[in-house]
Amino acid sequence: EEYMNRLYESRLYSGAGTGDNDRKQLIENRFEKALERERLSLVYQPQVNLHDRSVSGAEALLRWEDEVLGAVSPREFIPVAEASRMIIPAGYWVLKEACRQAAVWRESGLHIRMSVNLSPVQCEDEDFASKVKKIVAQSGIAPDMLTLEITENQLLYHLPEARVMLRELKAYGINISIDDFGTGYSSFSYLKHFPVDTVKIDQSFIRDMGRKEDKSDEKIVTTIINLARNMNMKVVAEGVEKGETLDFLSENQCDEIQGFLYCRPLSSEEVIPFLQADAAGNQLFLDK
Ligand code: C2E
Ligand code: MG
Ligand code: MG
Ligand code: MG
Repeated sequence: EEYMNRLYESRLYSGAGTGDNDRKQLIENRFEKALERERLSLVYQPQVNLHDRSVSGAEALLRWEDEVLGAVSPREFIPVAEASRMIIPAGYWVLKEACRQAAVWRESGLHIRMSVNLSPVQCEDEDFASKVKKIVAQSGIAPDMLTLEITENQLLYHLPEARVMLRELKAYGINISIDDFGTGYSSFSYLKHFPVDTVKIDQSFIRDMGRKEDKSDEKIVTTIINLARNMNMKVVAEGVEKGETLDFLSENQCDEIQGFLYCRPLSSEEVIPFLQADAAGNQLFLDK
């Protein structure tokens, strides 16, 4: 019986293996169509300044609702789009749309920074830096209203190109942030080699805070905050879901937070009234 069970399990396992490849292929094909037909959208998650408790920025996050597959998470389709290089055209679409939205906010009297995620794979396009500058210039927003969040994941493989391009973009006035900080292989060396303005502490250190006896997450978080302070960088904590976590970050001089505690990502229709209410001091989520 045990033998039969194992045989059954191994068949399930290999079945899941092929199913997985089929799904990746399907995602690759359908994502390409979605991009061509402009079936992608962005949502925006507010970033709160802990020093004055106002919304100072928002992160643009890509959403894809497919007719066949339904809603697919970026955690699933971004790696597929990176492997197929579709992330390059998709990345330009995201940047254009986010800059357009930032210009709309400015027209509405809102002084809110825009953060856009950048895959290191996008730096494979030789004209990346000049295209980004052109998109920003055409949108009419000031370059310093834009932050590019680059993940450590894959950065190692694109180090030389990414370095040159990010320096050029930094010189133009765009802010550079290291996303998911602390999870990669050479977090510290990126700070040395890249013109980094901001570090975003990875959610994995924030999520379980207060749960462990040994307080290791708290120690890592305060160490990253001190490191950022010593290097004159801003520090953002993401994935903040609990009031105690917010209090801890506030007491330890973290500059900004992002998380479901304050706000989930909002659609472009929802975001302006939300930001206006915040600017008027009418948000009840966090005590001002
Ligand atoms: P990220 O850049 O680290 O973005 C933060 C993710 O955490 C988002 O997931 C957001 O919805 C989620 N999040 C925010 N607050 C909380 C919280 O309090 N609790 C929990 N559990 N989650 C929270 P999302 O939108 O699913 O995006 C996942 C990842 O996909 C992003 O991680 C980013 O690496 C990538 N991604 C999303 N949009 C883009 C894009 O336009 N371009 C690229 N290259 N990558 C993107
Ligand atoms: Mg990000
Ligand atoms: Mg992150
Ligand atoms: Mg990430």
